[in-house]
Amino acid sequence: MDYSLVLRNGHVIDPSQSINRVTDVAVLDGRIADIGDALAPGLVERDIADKYVCPGLIDLHGHWWEGSSWGIDPDICLNHGVTTAIDAGTTGFINFPVFRKTQVSAATVRVLAFVNISGIGIPTTLVGELEDIRFARPLETGMVIEANRDICIGVKIREGTMTGRHGIEAMDKALEAANSTSLPLMVHITKGADTRQILRKLRPGDIVTHCFQGRGDGILSEREHHLLPEVTAARKNGIVFDVGHGAGAFSWETARRAFEYSFYPDTISTDLHRFSVERFAFDLPSTMSKFLHLGMPLADVILKSTWAPAQALGRGEELGTLKKGAPADIFVFDLEEGSFPLEDTHLRTESASRRIKPFLTIKDGISVEPGSYQVRLRELYECDHDLFRFIEQTANPS
Ligand SMILES: [Zn+2]
Repeated sequence: MDYSLVLRNGHVIDPSQSINRVTDVAVLDGRIADIGDALAPGLVERDIADKYVCPGLIDLHGHWWEGSSWGIDPDICLNHGVTTAIDAGTTGFINFPVFRKTQVSAATVRVLAFVNISGIGIPTTLVGELEDIRFARPLETGMVIEANRDICIGVKIREGTMTGRHGIEAMDKALEAANSTSLPLMVHITKGADTRQILRKLRPGDIVTHCFQGRGDGILSEREHHLLPEVTAARKNGIVFDVGHGAGAFSWETARRAFEYSFYPDTISTDLHRFSVERFAFDLPSTMSKFLHLGMPLADVILKSTWAPAQALGRGEELGTLKKGAPADIFVFDLEEGSFPLEDTHLRTESASRRIKPFLTIKDGISVEPGSYQVRLRELYECDHDLFRFIEQTANPS
């Protein structure tokens, strides 16, 4: 046998190589061995006619440290085609080492991480991690990144109420850490962020997450809902705009308004955490399906969930691609037709006519059927329900 596995007759979409046609994919020794028609036999043969095949998905924004109120077990991703899960700063220099030891190393899914400029990361919903500016530590953040270069891919900061009244001072400290390590900064923008000033400070390759949030201080002007000139300038300057759906950061209305300006996301991510996993975001294919519903072509939606995030991480040669020699990370899915309710975080539900339904995830050549990873979500406390109540109270459905 020439290969360990051959997927036959699937519709392969690999934007990294401009492939969009029915063909075969072969795997050997955990790596992509070949793509082409009528490939030689494999030890395992799977006929996947009528299904789609793309590189394993990369979720650029999630929370994967269970030592935080927000965190969930990252292996849940393997049920949904995600083979690389990015932790968006759930830990800072204080708790990153234990995150690595207990969670990243134990996971089957590949976990890479942004390190929070706040030394405590994002431990809780109760108090913002940068309400006290003393938690912002550029020197120590840089040190923990240097010691963990293999999995640390940038610096994270949340801007909004969690930065109190010193959002820009904290931002400058985060930029200091990102500059000293020559890595991107991921900035979360929510209500209370000085978004215009933040955008002016960002460097090419930096990432803005929650780009379609509709709760204020986002990418649109407050009264007339114009796309901010700073947003247009930032995009021109090579700033990456990421979805980061979450439990409070995706508005149909904001996305549609942005699309009117031909402003589409650079990367599609879930911001999956304890509060978005059972409602709102669910998983990356559900979030991708929302962008299909908004009119983006399937190949574009796949680009923004595979190769685009890989490039944002500086890993475009090895991840988010089916190039020969790359890790055999593959997602096989159905494009289901019917009527599917999709809810944004403003409690508005729309009915979509298509959705991406996972059929098979392959990570480093190992096949995982959907539902194989029975992830146990922690119990919710009374104070956790306060967050859901806050989301409902501030949703402003009209
Ligand atoms: Zn997040």
